[in-house]
Amino acid sequence: MREAIWFRSDLRILDNPAVFSAYQGDEPPLAIFFVCHETWKSHDWAPIKVDFVWRNLDCLQQDLAEKGIELEVQLVPKFSQVPGALRSFCRENRVDRVHINAEYALDEKRRDAATNAVLSNDDIELISHHGNLLVAPGEVRTQQGDYYKKFTPFNRRWRQVLSEKAYSEPLQIKPFSPVTSKGLPECPLARKDSSDWSAGEQQVLGKLGQFVGHRVDDYQQARDLPAENGTSQLSAYLAQGVIGPQTAVRALHKFSPEFPFGLASGADTWLTELAWREFYQHLMYFVPRLSRGESFQTETDSIQWLEDDDAFQRWCNGRTGYPIVDAGMRQLTSTGWMHNRLRMITANFLVKDLLVDWRKGEAFFMQHLIDGSFPANNGGWQWSASVGTDAVPYFRVFNPVKQSEKFDPDGQYIRKWVDELKEVPTKYIHWPHSWLQQQSSNNYCEPMVEHKFARERFLTTFKQVKNG
Ligand code: FAD
Repeated sequence: MREAIWFRSDLRILDNPAVFSAYQGDEPPLAIFFVCHETWKSHDWAPIKVDFVWRNLDCLQQDLAEKGIELEVQLVPKFSQVPGALRSFCRENRVDRVHINAEYALDEKRRDAATNAVLSNDDIELISHHGNLLVAPGEVRTQQGDYYKKFTPFNRRWRQVLSEKAYSEPLQIKPFSPVTSKGLPECPLARKDSSDWSAGEQQVLGKLGQFVGHRVDDYQQARDLPAENGTSQLSAYLAQGVIGPQTAVRALHKFSPEFPFGLASGADTWLTELAWREFYQHLMYFVPRLSRGESFQTETDSIQWLEDDDAFQRWCNGRTGYPIVDAGMRQLTSTGWMHNRLRMITANFLVKDLLVDWRKGEAFFMQHLIDGSFPANNGGWQWSASVGTDAVPYFRVFNPVKQSEKFDPDGQYIRKWVDELKEVPTKYIHWPHSWLQQQSSNNYCEPMVEHKFARERFLTTFKQVKNG
């Protein structure tokens, strides 16, 4: 029986059930990765994400070669061409079984179903594992057998299911004799340098160890303060599967013999964030229309959003005149990453202060994020816009100045990202306009909208939709 692994968003060896299962025979499995650059483009892949994937592919190819596996990387522009390409690969190499880790958004599910149909005509099995999640969709259900629409009960049940699983031993493989790595083809897409994020499985294991060993205890307090290094910054690695969620939670085991219960507050809250990651992937699986750009609360799709391209561009460029919003947007466009608190503040601002369709912001984020992940991004946007399942109630409109005072009290984060405000005293940093007017030079933009007016406008618009 000749086995193969088809890598996608699972660019690792450790704790990868597809790799582990393909590695059981007497000869090394084959491995393939398809670069679907046209589909990636239509899915708004950011140039920094392309670069990050490319660098991690390179590391994976070398790591696999050391263990006796050749990873072939083929350019296959569209998902629709994958079934034929995989069939040819299997025929040429006499492969009987291909192992994958499932992906849950609609295009990915369709690609895999089409591939399965084509391969089965040749009696080749496509075996799907759930290595991208701790708990597979369907393993967590309500008493009525339905999927969960609310996060809190999902999280409760998810932890129960998690407690029944054994993660104490990692899935590891026995190496074969090393082979020579084939190298990667020329990347067909634009890349933006991602070297601030070290690539490769070993590097990310070090990052995880550093976070869990030194910072997770403070996570509860520090995670909402964007000026601090209070979160794990593992999202890009989890999104591309350079680290598996199994490896991430195993690191928490040592903190409690009753894992996943009995954890101290920092570790417990961090586990809850991993549960959010899974919640949004389960939703993608059960509600395919989310992948078609629809809101979970369908009635909100009749909202008359403002077609104000100028306002949208000012938001994109970090020139709204609201310091905390501008700082967040500038962090995103220059580094490809934005702190979670800022993702919430900037998303709220676009939707509720500017009344711009959340889908525009969702696409812009994807076009810039190194950790762009469709389920998490879509979930985050629907939550912030109050159109999703279990979303923030629509009448909760963030006041950007109050958010700024609360989460960036000294203005350290703002000063880091908004050059024009570097000299502003802390007293004025959250709303610097009157102070700036008294200075000899001022190159910071005026506020583009009055928050009080915008809040009322949003509430009126939303109420009309809610009341039919
Ligand atoms: P930590 O705080 O250390 O959390 C650990 C891990 O849990 C993260 O790496 C991530 O995998 C997961 N996680 C944390 N919060 C969430 C959440 N709310 N939803 C889903 N998973 C979560 N996350 C992405 O990975 N990709 C995205 O494209 C993305 N887009 C977002 C868009 C919006 C509007 C919002 C509000 C949130 C978005 N998030 C996204 C979630 C969250 O902001 C990031 O996961 C987090 O900031 C990453 O930093 P970290 O790795 O330090 O997270």
